[in-house]
Amino acid sequence: MTPPKHIAIVGGGTAGWMTANLLRHRWAALGVAVTLIESADIGTIGVGEGSTPFLRHFFRTLGIAERSWMPACDATYKCGIRFPGWSTVPGYESYVHPFFGEPDRELGNLFFTNACLRRRGQAADANPQDFFLAAELARQRRAPILQADAGPGTDYAYHFDAGKLGTFLRTHAVGLGVRHVVDTVARVSQQENGDIAAVHLAGGACIEADLFVDCSGFRGLLISEALGEPFHPYRDNLFNDRAIAIPTALADGEDIPSETVSTALRHGWAWQIPLTARYGNGYVYSSDFVSDDEAERELRAHLGPAAEGMPARRLRMRVGRVHQHWRQNCVAIGLAQGFIEPLEATALMLIQLSVEQFIAALEDDGFGRARQEAFNERVNAMFEGVRDYVVAHYQLNTRHDTDYWRANRANRHISDRLAGLLAVWDGGGDFEAELARHGAGLMYLRPSWYALLAGMGRFPAGLRAAPQALTGPQARARLGQMATAFGSHLRQLTGM
Ligand SMILES: Cc1cc2nc3c(=O)[nH]c(=O)nc-3n(C[C@H](O)[C@H](O)[C@H](O)COP(=O)(O)OP(=O)(O)OC[C@H]3O[C@@H](n4cnc5c(N)ncnc54)[C@H](O)[C@@H]3O)c2cc1C
Repeated sequence: MTPPKHIAIVGGGTAGWMTANLLRHRWAALGVAVTLIESADIGTIGVGEGSTPFLRHFFRTLGIAERSWMPACDATYKCGIRFPGWSTVPGYESYVHPFFGEPDRELGNLFFTNACLRRRGQAADANPQDFFLAAELARQRRAPILQADAGPGTDYAYHFDAGKLGTFLRTHAVGLGVRHVVDTVARVSQQENGDIAAVHLAGGACIEADLFVDCSGFRGLLISEALGEPFHPYRDNLFNDRAIAIPTALADGEDIPSETVSTALRHGWAWQIPLTARYGNGYVYSSDFVSDDEAERELRAHLGPAAEGMPARRLRMRVGRVHQHWRQNCVAIGLAQGFIEPLEATALMLIQLSVEQFIAALEDDGFGRARQEAFNERVNAMFEGVRDYVVAHYQLNTRHDTDYWRANRANRHISDRLAGLLAVWDGGGDFEAELARHGAGLMYLRPSWYALLAGMGRFPAGLRAAPQALTGPQARARLGQMATAFGSHLRQLTGM
C-alpha cells in the first residue's frame, strides 16, 4: 500500500500540534499532506505544564534546540517531583521522585541496598532525596546542566507555559508545511465501510482525508462521538475528576526552582510548577469528597497571599482511555484518547509515544492496517502501566485526616500486577525478580519504583539495628559536593 496522501488532524491543542509536527517531519518526503483544523470558539485545556524526560527526545527528533524553544515558552528545567505530605512516616514526610543518570550509579546502588535492608526490618536510611543527584540539584535550585564538559549528565525534563508551547509548535509545524485551518467541525460524514469520509466545517468548507487524527480533547469528537468507540473509565482506580488552576507570581530575584512540587492536601494534591515568568499551581481532587468551592478555598489557603486576587480556572477531567485508539481510518491522540490524572505529568509523553508507535505500526506494515490491533494493545499497555504507577501513590499514602485518603488506601480496585508488586515488597520477597517479571510493561523503571515505595516509607515498624554502608546524611554530603561541580542556576544559564 501507499502512505496516506492526506492526513486531517482535528484539534490545535498540544496534542494536535505535537502530532502535526511528528507526522509531517517523518513523512513530508513521501508527499504526505497534513491539515490541522482548530476551532476559534472552543479553547484548549490550557494546563499541562510539566513533562517527563521524553520531551527531550521530541525536540531532538524535530531538531529544535533548547535555546530556541525554552525562552519562547518560559520553560525551566525539571529535576524531578517532590511529594510533601503523602506519608506520615517519620523521616519520609517528603520525598523526591528524581530523574536519574550515570552520576547516580554509586549512591543509587547504595540507596537500593539500604531500601532492601529496611524492607527486611533493619535500620537503614532510605529516603531517595538523600541519594540522587537530581534531588540535591533541585534542593539547591540548580539546573541539571553541566557547567563545563565534566562527564556524563543526569536526565531531566521541563516545565513550560502550555499556551506558549502550543504557539511555538504551531509556528514550527506551519514552517514544515502543515496547513492550518481555523474553523469549527460541525459534522462528520462516514463512508459505507464506517471510515470517516470528511469533516464539514461551520464556515461551509468540507475537508476530506484518508486518515483522520482526533485531537479534539476530552469530548473525542471523531473517535467517541462520530465512531462511537467505548470509553474505559479508570474511576474505580483513580478517584480524582476535577482540578482548579491558579497562577501566582515568582518573587523578585528568586532563584527559579528546578522541580515540581506535588503536595498532598485534604482531598487530593496541589501542584506547583515554576516557569520563568510565574508559578503554575493547581489542585487535583475528587468531587465525591469535596465541593468545587471548598476545594478552591483549600487551594487558596495553601497558596497564601500569593493567590489573592488571582483568577481560578475550574476543570473537569475524564480519566480513563478509549478501548481502541485507532479505529477505522481514525486515530485518537491526547485527551481524546484518554487521560491519567497529572500526578506524574505523563500526558505529553503518552501523546508522543502514541504517535511514534502509530508511525512505526504503519511503516512496519508498509502502510497497511494489519498492525492496528497490535498498536491498540501496545497503547493500552502504556496507559495501564502509567495508571498502576500513579495508583500506587494513593495506595501507599499513610494519611488519616480525611475519608478521601482512607478510601484511597483501602481501595481494592487495583490491578493484579500492582497488588503483586506491593505484596512482594511488603513480604520481603525478591522485588527485583518481580520487577523483571513485568519488564517494560511497567513503564516505570526500577529506580522509580524504589523511589516511590521507599520514599513513602513503606517499611515494617520495629527496626533492628544493623550496619549500613552509607547513611542519609553521609550520602547528602557527597551529593552536595557533586552538585556544585555539576549544575548552575537557571538565571545564570539563560542570562535572565
Ligand atoms: C488539570 C490538568 C493538569 C495537567 N497537567 C499535565 C502535566 O503536567 N503534564 C502533561 O503532560 N499533561 C498534563 N495535562 C494534560 C495536558 O494538558 C493535555 O494532555 C494536553 O494539553 C493535550 O490536550 P489536547 O490537545 O488533547 O486537548 P485540548 O487542549 O483540549 O485541545 C483540543 C483542541 O480541539 C479543538 N476542537 C474541539 N472541538 C472542535 C471542533 N468541533 N472543531 C474544531 N476544533 C475543535 C479545540 O479548539 C482545541 O484546539 C493536564 C491536564 C489537566 C486536566
